[in-house]
Amino acid sequence: MVKHILSKSTFMYGCQCPKRLYMHKFKRDLRNPEEEEQTSIFAAGTNIGLLARELFPGGVSAEPPDPFSYHIAVEKTAKFIEQQHSVIYEAAFNFEGVLCAIDVLVNKGGKWYAFEVKGSTKVKEPFILDASLQHYVISNCGVPLEDISIVFLNNQYIRIGDLEIQKLFANQSINEQVVANKNFVAGKIAELKQLLKDKQEPIIDIGDHCFKPYECDFTGHCWANFQQEVSTSEEYVNIESIQTFLDEWEYPLCFFDFETIMPAVPEFDHSRPYQQIPFQYSLHTQDTKNSEIKHVEFLGDGLTDPREALIISLLQQLKGHGSIVVWNKTFEMTRLREIARDFPKYADEIQHVLERVVDLMVPFRRKWYYLPEFNDSYSLKAVLPVLVPELSYGDLTIQEGGTASLIYSQLKLHTPEVQSQHREHLLEYCKLDTLAMVEIYRKLTSNK
Ligand code: SF4
Repeated sequence: MVKHILSKSTFMYGCQCPKRLYMHKFKRDLRNPEEEEQTSIFAAGTNIGLLARELFPGGVSAEPPDPFSYHIAVEKTAKFIEQQHSVIYEAAFNFEGVLCAIDVLVNKGGKWYAFEVKGSTKVKEPFILDASLQHYVISNCGVPLEDISIVFLNNQYIRIGDLEIQKLFANQSINEQVVANKNFVAGKIAELKQLLKDKQEPIIDIGDHCFKPYECDFTGHCWANFQQEVSTSEEYVNIESIQTFLDEWEYPLCFFDFETIMPAVPEFDHSRPYQQIPFQYSLHTQDTKNSEIKHVEFLGDGLTDPREALIISLLQQLKGHGSIVVWNKTFEMTRLREIARDFPKYADEIQHVLERVVDLMVPFRRKWYYLPEFNDSYSLKAVLPVLVPELSYGDLTIQEGGTASLIYSQLKLHTPEVQSQHREHLLEYCKLDTLAMVEIYRKLTSNK
């Protein structure tokens, strides 16, 4: 068998940017470091693929023993086809050095149907190109496809009780678009094979294509010089606008923040694919201008649905009046509205909370307070180290929300000792988010 030159992933890299393909093959050590969050998304994708197999029961798997032995998968697939199996998982093909696998291949009444499973909630543009390559390779290997479809998560599905696989997934044929791409795919393969043969680094400028359809993993390398050259504008503070904005706020001030997980496959009743599930909050409260700051917090158990216990605790703390201060109110308000929708008995009280939410991010987003050191960002992580350098996420084990979410979602896999360490780190992290808001608020009011 011809050793493969291109795979589906490397073909897609080459379509995004020929330099990305070149770097991936010949200068891989210049890649951006892989982040933990990315790893967890990949892992979630694997589970979805396995779950989707239940839509096509009774199949045989051609999966290779490891990602470097795809030739074994190709041989197994050929054998399964010869043995007339009607459902093959991870069917793999190699046509003239281009390798690809398809999640499920079905033979019904002598005709072949291909299904690619995506952990997304709709059919996205890059899936079509991806499937165009699969269609090209599989058909050229002597398996004519009657149809090719994308199987994806149905975000209208609301889990109640056991997972209902037929409702969890939706299915859409993309055969027409894929067939129309046939000549493009053939031309692109020839071009990319030539590039790999020449081993000449293509000269490509940075641009939008570095982030579309996916962020390239060489942005750190290619964008390094550009970022050093960028110089942002002058410092600017509009005291009057800030003051008018903050004067609307009412004591007690409740500085509040959620952390969430976003399971692709719904884990709890009354939740949908990729719904953000709040599992933790931190709340710093100040009753009057000069009174001391009090802190309360909540963290789910890592096993059961945290939402109801969380909302009961939160509503108890937020009883009465006063402004509820968050950073980027769309996020917190949307989560609260979702809890009101999924647990309607708390809807009235949640509505009262929603009416009191104010957003500390506004002065930074509207550039009433602008320092070049913010680097054109108004995220809490960008503003805090500039305004309050003595408070830093750098000393914490968890330094951003993605890691918090990953650690919480894996909490149940650990021993009680490790769990309690992780819980401590989660509490420290969320507490700093709200303390950061307290200090930034102080900074803003000290400018009055
Ligand atoms: S960062 Fe941009 S220019 Fe550099 S390889 Fe990636 S896509 Fe190409």
